Amino acid sequence: MSTHCPVCNKPVKAKYAPFCSQRCKDVDLGRWLKGVYVVPGMDSEEAGSLPPEEPGGGQKHRP
Ligand SMILES: [Zn+2]
Repeated sequence: MSTHCPVCNKPVKAKYAPFCSQRCKDVDLGRWLKGVYVVPGMDSEEAGSLPPEEPGGGQKHRP
């Protein structure tokens, strides 16, 4: 069974599994942290910047 590094597709070294080197390990960790950071950050920002709909604002959605 041969495994390849998900970052650069080189053969994996047991020492750095599942990556081929410390560098690729850091790259993947960076991607992962970035992805985790973006989702909740966008969510809370969107919820905070959107003003609540006021009943007397005159914006009614009627066909
Ligand atoms: Zn690699």
